[in-house]
Amino acid sequence: MIFQKKLSKMAIFSYLIIDQQTNTCALVDPAFDTKELLDEIRNRGLHLKSVINTHSHADHIAGNASIIDKSRAKLMIHRNDVRTMNTFMNKLFARILGGRKSPMPRRLLLDNDTIQIGTIKLKVIHTPGHTPGSICLYTDGNLITGDTLFVGAVGRTDLRGGSHQQLINSIHKKLYTLPPETIVWPGHDYGTMPSSTIQQERETNPMT
Ligand SMILES: [Zn+2]
Ligand SMILES: [Zn+2]
Repeated sequence: MIFQKKLSKMAIFSYLIIDQQTNTCALVDPAFDTKELLDEIRNRGLHLKSVINTHSHADHIAGNASIIDKSRAKLMIHRNDVRTMNTFMNKLFARILGGRKSPMPRRLLLDNDTIQIGTIKLKVIHTPGHTPGSICLYTDGNLITGDTLFVGAVGRTDLRGGSHQQLINSIHKKLYTLPPETIVWPGHDYGTMPSSTIQQERETNPMT
């Protein structure tokens, strides 16, 4: 199951992907409020196995250090976004937001990789455009989209490494081809609802 948590700054959503059979979980994009996120994991009696970043922007990785310090979770990000995790600007931004420099990932992800969380198989879908190493995560009718696809919007492409053409290609070829009932879980709460479906975005998203 997917647990969505809206963080206290910048309308960010972090996610827990929970395998109820083994009480294990993965945490996606811990930017802030890391104590609340760890409390949530503890209160549910879960073991945190992985921390996965959908991309390297500070508002998605600023909490990596504090989570990794307090758990044995393995940090993962797409290979194309490793170099930008700790650029001067990203570290500065993370500090301004109350976070810290990220530790280095222990696993570099590629398109089509599988991340095992207990009995759950999470599929990595490489969706470059917002950043060169942006990924979406798919499991069993659920799609976590980071800053690639929002409810009624798409990620900005005017930052370093961004490409609007690539972003639209990624969305059309790799996301809109998923089953229409797939639930879309975005990286920010920018829409009229906190989640959506592939069908709804395909039919109504004005930016795609
Ligand atoms: Zn971003
Ligand atoms: Zn973001």
